[in-house]
Amino acid sequence: MKLSLTKVVNGCRLGKIKNLGKTGDRTMDIPGCLLYTKTGSAPHLTHHTLHNIHGVPAMAQLTLSSLAEYYEVLAEYKEGVGKFIGMPESLLYCSLHDPVSPCPAGYITNKVLQKSVIIGVIEGGDVMEERLRSARETAKRPVGGFLLDGFQGNPTTLVTRLHLLSSVTAALPEDKPRLICGVSRPDEVLECIERGVDLFESFFPYQVTERGCALTFSFDYQPNPEETLLQQNGIQEEIKYVDQIKKIKTTGCNEEMTSFEINLKEKKYQEDFHPLVRGCSCYCCKNHTRAYIHHLLVTNELLAGVLLMMHNFEHYFGFFHSIREALKSDRLAKLKELICRQAS
Ligand SMILES: [Zn+2]
Repeated sequence: MKLSLTKVVNGCRLGKIKNLGKTGDRTMDIPGCLLYTKTGSAPHLTHHTLHNIHGVPAMAQLTLSSLAEYYEVLAEYKEGVGKFIGMPESLLYCSLHDPVSPCPAGYITNKVLQKSVIIGVIEGGDVMEERLRSARETAKRPVGGFLLDGFQGNPTTLVTRLHLLSSVTAALPEDKPRLICGVSRPDEVLECIERGVDLFESFFPYQVTERGCALTFSFDYQPNPEETLLQQNGIQEEIKYVDQIKKIKTTGCNEEMTSFEINLKEKKYQEDFHPLVRGCSCYCCKNHTRAYIHHLLVTNELLAGVLLMMHNFEHYFGFFHSIREALKSDRLAKLKELICRQAS
């Protein structure tokens, strides 16, 4: 595994991770995200439907706990995890925990993983000295990259945590990728990229899907003049959602919902015949309306999760593509301003 940086702008790193996979000919763009999976499967989706999504990351995330559960079966199967889960061509990243349903620690060795590249974990909580010690000591080990752990959590300490993050990434060698766990919201992703983080998990679109919502935030920082009116309408709509979210938060309902999404279970979508996002090229938006998704949700049809997952993944992967394009053209500040305006 080799990191090749093409550009660094104010700490934001643009580049490629090369020499990935068994034959070493696979690459992955950074900043980027991993494909969130449940035991190797993208939630709600078959591999066939997954291939209908544009921009699917080259690397999928598995959890060690799920591998440990299948350990004896895998040992008997002998043909590797990738083939067993039906993704023989995929690059797999194995994390200790599932970011959505944390599991107890304690899995320490696994023969299935012996030939894998090891990612060093940087710990130390909120103590600067311990974080720096962990960074320096881990950097001395033969690791392929670094996992920044424990930076998610209490928003009141966000400034402190971001300061800590800057100091930790500054202490790490430039030539290895840095992955952060537990951070997946668009506004937080941008804050971390500015502090030298390269890779993220993609559990956020899954959480959005699970609460019957669709990602609708705009990441188009250079709208086509012909679409200006649509954009303006979109922004008006977003502002309404921000107000709505603030109202929801003050009444204490549905606290997890963010202003980056809309709740399709709401009655107002019953006769809304627009796609989830105007101009979105995903399978769901090209073929279905908000009203249909609303109907599927209120009647508890499993197809709701499938269609929402297809849209939410494609929207989220498109956001990362937009980050890389913005970095290439020195317009990340413009993208960040657009995202922060939509954050509640
Ligand atoms: Zn869509």
